[in-house]
Amino acid sequence: MQKKLGNLVRDQWVEGTGDGNILTSAVSGAVLAAINSDGLDFGGMLQHARDVGGSNLRKLTFHERGEMLKALAQYLMEHKKELYALSTETGATRADSWVDIDGGISTLFVFSSKARREMPNDHVYLDGPPERISKNGTFTAQHIFTPKLGAAVHINAYNFPCWGMLEKLAPALVAGVPAIVKPASSTAYLTELMVRRIHASGILPDGALQLICGGVGDLFEHLTCQDTIAFTGSKNTAEFLQQHHKVVSESVAFTAETDSLNSSVLGPDAVPGTPEFDLFVQEVTREMTSKAGQKCTAIRRIIAPASITDELHAALAISLGKIRIGNPGSKDVDMGALASLGQRDEVRDRVSELAKQAEIVYGGERDFAVLEADAEKGAFFMPTLLHCQKPLSSNLVHSVEAFGPVSTVLPYDSLDAAIELSRLGEGSLAGSIVTNDDQVARELVLGTAAFHGRMVLINRHCAAESTGHGSPLPHLVHGGPGRAGGGEEMGGVRGVLHYMQRTAIQGSPQTLSHIGHRWIHGAEQKDPGVHPFRKTFEQLQIGDTLLTDSREVTLDDIQHFAEFTGDNFYAHTNEEAAAKNPFFDGRVAHGYLIVSFAAGLFVEPEFGPVLANYGVDDLRFAQPVNFGDTLRVRLTCKQKTLRAGSGYGEVRWDTEVTNQDDEIVAAYDVLTMVATDEQWQSVN
Ligand code: NAP
Repeated sequence: MQKKLGNLVRDQWVEGTGDGNILTSAVSGAVLAAINSDGLDFGGMLQHARDVGGSNLRKLTFHERGEMLKALAQYLMEHKKELYALSTETGATRADSWVDIDGGISTLFVFSSKARREMPNDHVYLDGPPERISKNGTFTAQHIFTPKLGAAVHINAYNFPCWGMLEKLAPALVAGVPAIVKPASSTAYLTELMVRRIHASGILPDGALQLICGGVGDLFEHLTCQDTIAFTGSKNTAEFLQQHHKVVSESVAFTAETDSLNSSVLGPDAVPGTPEFDLFVQEVTREMTSKAGQKCTAIRRIIAPASITDELHAALAISLGKIRIGNPGSKDVDMGALASLGQRDEVRDRVSELAKQAEIVYGGERDFAVLEADAEKGAFFMPTLLHCQKPLSSNLVHSVEAFGPVSTVLPYDSLDAAIELSRLGEGSLAGSIVTNDDQVARELVLGTAAFHGRMVLINRHCAAESTGHGSPLPHLVHGGPGRAGGGEEMGGVRGVLHYMQRTAIQGSPQTLSHIGHRWIHGAEQKDPGVHPFRKTFEQLQIGDTLLTDSREVTLDDIQHFAEFTGDNFYAHTNEEAAAKNPFFDGRVAHGYLIVSFAAGLFVEPEFGPVLANYGVDDLRFAQPVNFGDTLRVRLTCKQKTLRAGSGYGEVRWDTEVTNQDDEIVAAYDVLTMVATDEQWQSVN
């Protein structure tokens, strides 16, 4: 009997009740499995995600969720061999699989790191500083993010069965939102294997991840305003799903990553013989052939100066001619097959459509060698380059996406025309510019950035380390306007926030400090009883405040500091010159002298739990300090972030330096590392 892919429903593997569609190898045409989701309780899956997955995830802090992702990434690294083996059946070469499998796992690592470094070890994320909205500061405001109390429904495309899942899953899990993943049918067998391994690892809590292999049944009927949909695929499907009556009536957040006619512009300076011309040829070749061109970010439109298009065709023909096509499992092969025979037929149709307005200058239906595979049974397609003579007046080259190793050269006569051509794509995920002229780069970026989600600027100086035109990175936003779907994913913490609700909260500074675990001006400032530097991380309380003794700044101090540091700037050393400065009446103290004196006033010199000062944030000098002025410091424990397992936590101190009239002369946050109880006891 045919193997059927499993569905992970309420933490159990179940098969659909129907016979299902047959999935075949993209390389040999051999039957791999059947896929079916008939009979699943889709409403129950959503409920399970909300009730079990969501509540389990929300018990964890952002840091704990980050640790969980790290453990998962490490576990998957240990199991990637079998994933690579199966990935070959999708038509992927080892290099393609590396992008999908290792690229996906590294996305988990990056989100893990971002969660632990850029988010608090807490359950609420503060969006920016408080907003002052009352005269006396007794009523204030703060924007916060909390996890949505629903499920993230992830509908993915067939081209990246692993990365496509993980790049959506990582930010959702960091946000504390469980996911229901629906991979595209044709390559779902690889996603299913990865989910089986994730499930077997036991690293994710119950309900955090469910899988549907097959149709989504009546899932959409059960959506609520707390659910989120992230879709990758064709524009038609996105539009259809976006109009579902539940999506509309419940205002379900819907992110779409769809078709994209991405362009790359060769600058007018990058003529044959320059490093940039060669880099361009290399980049276009890579984008056309990696993953057999089945990348949403691939270069579909090559915008090049009209004067050099003949040389460009010739160089690309040589470069594409070196690409060996065939069994992706072979070391001698550079480009594998498309994901299915149906996909190959579709690409053929699209090339025919493009050929109505462009001429095929390389590839097309010409016979080509297929290494170590049956050319008839596998979905192989030759890299195909077209040239459109009048791109400004041709519509098809800007609207027909051949989702394979296909690209069209569009000649331009002026930078304005290049900008216009790029914009005619009506919104794309990624654009690139290859030029060594920074002014050309600026004009092209300003002229086209509004049409792109991401832009890559390549020249001889950065090429060696460039990640390339078509590589979405977890740190950067992935998505684009218009035809690209209007969505945005990843982008570090930005991607996490898509699964959370932003709420403006207004109230007393004390209440808001308590909710956000960050001290706000106007909130309680308590006498800690002992010097706060004598307290361990656990003993310190937000709001603990030290008011120091005062110290006079003398002219000798300023003179000495100038000589000692070598900072002889006239405002500190020359009375007459300083008096001409519009900000000062005469010689003033160095800002860093104020900060140094402040440290001298607030530190506790004896050995104690404060381990180190690792920096200051937001330092501002509010008023000049003249000799004869008297300084005093108010130091308030503002925020605590435990670094679990390290023996310390980070403590941020709100620091205000005032003068004899209680006016603030300097304000900043001092950042320290403070030992935990356990660590402190172990050294005492
Ligand atoms: P598609 O037909 O739109 O399918 C995409 C996903 O939607 C698949 O999982 C598919 O499942 C699912 N789907 C289709 N109809 C559905 C429905 N009525 N209800 C729920 N789910 C439904 O796209 P495709 O042809 O497979 O993918 C190629 C396209 O994706 C290309 O145009 C490419 O540009 C785009 N793409 C975009 C990105 C990006 O990041 N922007 C990335 C990759 C691909 P089944 O497979 O089971 O039908």
